Amino acid sequence: MGFTAAAAEEYMSAQAAFLRRNRMGRRIPANYGHAFVNWWQQYGGEHPEWFQLVNGKRGPSRPWGRFSMCISNPGLREEIVSQWRQHGSAPLEHPPIFVNAVENDIPGQCECDACKALDGPEPPNYREFIPSKSKIAGKPFVSDRYARSWQAIQQIAAKYNSNAVVVGYAYMNYFAAPTTGIKLGSNVIIGFCPSSWFYPRSHEEQGWIKDQWQGWAETDASLLMRTNYFLDGYCMPHIFTGQFSDEFQKASSNGMIGTDFDSLTGHWATQGPNIYLLMRLQIHPDVSASSILSEYYSAFGPAADDVKKYFDFWEAYTSNGRSRLHDTFEALGASRWRSWAKAAHVIYPEESFAPAEALLDSAVSSAKGDQEASMRVNFLQLGLQHAKLCSQAASKLTLGDPESSYERGGAELQALLEFRRTHERMWISNLNHCAWVESSSWTLPGAAAQSQDPGPE
Ligand SMILES: [Zn+2]
Repeated sequence: MGFTAAAAEEYMSAQAAFLRRNRMGRRIPANYGHAFVNWWQQYGGEHPEWFQLVNGKRGPSRPWGRFSMCISNPGLREEIVSQWRQHGSAPLEHPPIFVNAVENDIPGQCECDACKALDGPEPPNYREFIPSKSKIAGKPFVSDRYARSWQAIQQIAAKYNSNAVVVGYAYMNYFAAPTTGIKLGSNVIIGFCPSSWFYPRSHEEQGWIKDQWQGWAETDASLLMRTNYFLDGYCMPHIFTGQFSDEFQKASSNGMIGTDFDSLTGHWATQGPNIYLLMRLQIHPDVSASSILSEYYSAFGPAADDVKKYFDFWEAYTSNGRSRLHDTFEALGASRWRSWAKAAHVIYPEESFAPAEALLDSAVSSAKGDQEASMRVNFLQLGLQHAKLCSQAASKLTLGDPESSYERGGAELQALLEFRRTHERMWISNLNHCAWVESSSWTLPGAAAQSQDPGPE
């Protein structure tokens, strides 16, 4: 379903050049991420007290299951610092700067008295913003226990290196800002990582997310935007420039020291404005989104206005489709980052494409006589054709419908594959990302279901 091997290699180098030209990278090596993934296997026997207490039992609730830590435990905190001091080849008197204290990829679950004693009061409107089916729906609000623990770990590490910086994530049931008025200071870095709340959002939800950033900024911690927003949308024209730039610019002027975006899924022809903003805002966070997007549209020469109308159409479509997105994904058991293609035909049915095609037809007329602009408009057309073929294939192959079968969707799949083979080097989409999503979304014959991990950077 993805690129041929040779095209995949060329694509990756083209993408690397794009990232380099957009100055993506980092000067300071930083190691962080879920820190305790293997700890139960390594230390559970000797130190069960370092691990979550759930229903009276320490450690994972089922064998090999995920687990969170007993983050209040003094021995655990000492061990985190001790391992940091021994990390890598740095001599003990010059340990590396970053102490990784990012909780595992699971809600903070410890029920012990010491952990609970560190919790702050739950914000009054908190539950209004927690999706009813999310992993954290039934979980307590535990941001303050983590904030206080990161602070304590930083104080231990500072005995060995006054510049030590502890990294934690605002995530899951410790995403919302703490409520005890704690001051963390700049030697604690918080990776701001909403585990849900993709775009588009309601006005209230957008405000609430920005309030959480503001609340963490008020702890005086250093904030890192570590969001998953760009894993959303598959190869569909899912455009969210307005809410994304609003959130990014609020954050960038308020405590942001860096960004770490989950992914570049690479749907250049259908999501160009999203990607362009994502890159340019990091270099020019003070420039208005409309100016940045004007720059993008100007690349279409005499068709700039038509292309703007085209993407404005899709942004309005996205913004107005919030409940359809929620309801459809819930009904089909689809995931916004892993199995979007289960729902593509419901969110983007056949008839949704016609007005957008007409807008691109106008762009073709306007671009006539300008070869470069014509080629670029054609690039958008190919992206839209590809999205439509994906929607058609999804309607017959979705795992959300028990009637789906390879036989039923064979013709649509064949048409999609032929299109991809013909146009793969146009780079309209990272086809390996498409294949990865489709492998969890569609009923596919064994060989086609085998897809390469796109290795998003
Ligand atoms: Zn505990």
